[in-house]
Amino acid sequence: MGKTWEQIEELQPTVLRMLKNSLKKQRVAHAYLFEGPKGTGKKDVGLLLTKSLFCESLIESYKPCESCHHCRRINSGNHPDVHIVEPDGSSIKVEQIRNLQAEFAKKGVESLKKVYLIVDAEKMSTSASNSLLKFLEEPSAQTVALLLTEHPQKILPTILSRCQIITFEPLPPNVMVKQLIEHGVNANKAPLLSQLTNNLEEALQLNGDDWFAQAQKIVVKLYEVLNKNPFEAMVTLQSDWYQHFKEKQQIHLGLDLLLLIFKDLLYIQLDKEEHLVYKGERERLKQAALNTSGRRLSNQMSAILEAKRKLDANMNPQLMMEQLVLKIQEGSTFV
Ligand SMILES: [Zn+2]
Repeated sequence: MGKTWEQIEELQPTVLRMLKNSLKKQRVAHAYLFEGPKGTGKKDVGLLLTKSLFCESLIESYKPCESCHHCRRINSGNHPDVHIVEPDGSSIKVEQIRNLQAEFAKKGVESLKKVYLIVDAEKMSTSASNSLLKFLEEPSAQTVALLLTEHPQKILPTILSRCQIITFEPLPPNVMVKQLIEHGVNANKAPLLSQLTNNLEEALQLNGDDWFAQAQKIVVKLYEVLNKNPFEAMVTLQSDWYQHFKEKQQIHLGLDLLLLIFKDLLYIQLDKEEHLVYKGERERLKQAALNTSGRRLSNQMSAILEAKRKLDANMNPQLMMEQLVLKIQEGSTFV
């Protein structure tokens, strides 16, 4: 079952407003390029638009009814006049585009209309791109092409110039939280994930990942010993942190997790507890927030951001972490 207009409108309001206007004015383009990060709903919107183009009982002359035989066949992936091309291995090959053209040379089975979606369009080989270009140059009145990509810069300019380009924005955190909960993520965990990535699939993957669960525990442990004494924090780096956070990307994620703890403390001090991301640690964090100042928290957050810059500049990660721990502890009273 595909997503409904209302569901997708929450994710991509601007995109849907534009498509709604085109549908109502019957000015749908012959070719669209949907570009934007993974997980932003490009394929869902493609299928939605396809349903709107075929639907026999459009609601308010733009929304598909979801129940006519066109809508149902598109939802179940077996409409004879809708073709989806996806990479075969690492690329979209010229044969795939030729097959598509052969299909289109035939008359529409159900109607005169035909729609094709090309997923990961940047993966078309050069010959596939050239073949598609010829196809786009001779548009039939009843054919709509939907090209989907996360990397528009990798698409031939001659193809881009024939498409109406529609940009899909990354999901804002509050929408992400809602989406994650709808996908079964615990409501206490969703806010944290929404701060780490704006990619729904990536957030869902992190949610089920053992490495990530362990990473969170280590970060919370490091935070706790940071308040105890300098020696113990160094021990935790040795015993837990270095073993777990090895790749640069993993270290960045660890530092992001740490940064979010300090942000939470700041939110508590500012009386904005609704913004907390470590919801499960609320009580402990409230206690900690009593023993520090806003100025100190913001210095500690700057130190973490500085550490991330050093990491990008290829500083030795162990040295970077040791400096960070000392910096975070500056001005501590070690109770
Ligand atoms: Zn319908």
